Amino acid sequence: MTAKKVRDYQDVIEAIEKAERDIPSLRVIRTDRVKTAGGPYPFYHLSITSPEAGNPERRTVFLGGGIHGDEPGGVWAVMEFLRRYPMQPDRYRRFEFTLLPCMNPFGYEHNTRANAAGIDLNRQFRNTAPPIEVQRVKKAVGGRPFFLTMEFHEDVDTPGFYLYELTQKGEPSWGREMIARIGARYPVNRNQEIEGLPAEEGLIHRQPGHIDLRKIMEQRADWPQAFYHYANGSRHCFTTETPIHLTRDERAEIHLTALDVALEKLWAP
Ligand SMILES: [Zn+2]
Repeated sequence: MTAKKVRDYQDVIEAIEKAERDIPSLRVIRTDRVKTAGGPYPFYHLSITSPEAGNPERRTVFLGGGIHGDEPGGVWAVMEFLRRYPMQPDRYRRFEFTLLPCMNPFGYEHNTRANAAGIDLNRQFRNTAPPIEVQRVKKAVGGRPFFLTMEFHEDVDTPGFYLYELTQKGEPSWGREMIARIGARYPVNRNQEIEGLPAEEGLIHRQPGHIDLRKIMEQRADWPQAFYHYANGSRHCFTTETPIHLTRDERAEIHLTALDVALEKLWAP
């Protein structure tokens, strides 16, 4: 592959190292350099333990960015989350975070959706022998169900924000509220169909009822990451999609606004 380098993964590494100094409860797990067709990259898996470790109210949250390398807004959102975390310790104290800031380092640097071998990593989650990046994601998750999973994506064509929501049976939907809060300040994609799926005011909700979703999951061999989290039993699985015509700060802010809504819902005092 002859893709040109347009961003530096070193920026992500430095943000992680700074967070490691600023957040006492942050644990950084660095794997050995992951060899890819594009060269070796260190892979980072972060966890932030809750100061209320013994509290049964504590909630587990997974945040992931950059599985598609040409969607850097997701990586920037995780970096911004890490920057803000030490300033708002109370806000986050009941949550235990698992973070994968950049799941496709080669793609991030070269602005390619796929990895160096040309594989779309977000279609590899049912593969029993997936590319190394997906193996690292699965190792970090370890088959655990989370209360909330959020994967921050972007869409190069969309005029505005939209999201995919998967909820386990009996769990409420939070997508509309996320869109309302984001829509007050940013554009929302209100088309009735997005990416070939029926959408309602920016929300693509695979409603449980759930024959539909289960059947789709059974039939599809090319599972995206959200299906993997859902199959593990995670209760609320979101994929948020920002438009790339907005600024870096705006795109990070939109993802983190969606996260804020979910955290408020998870921890209704
Ligand atoms: Zn994507």
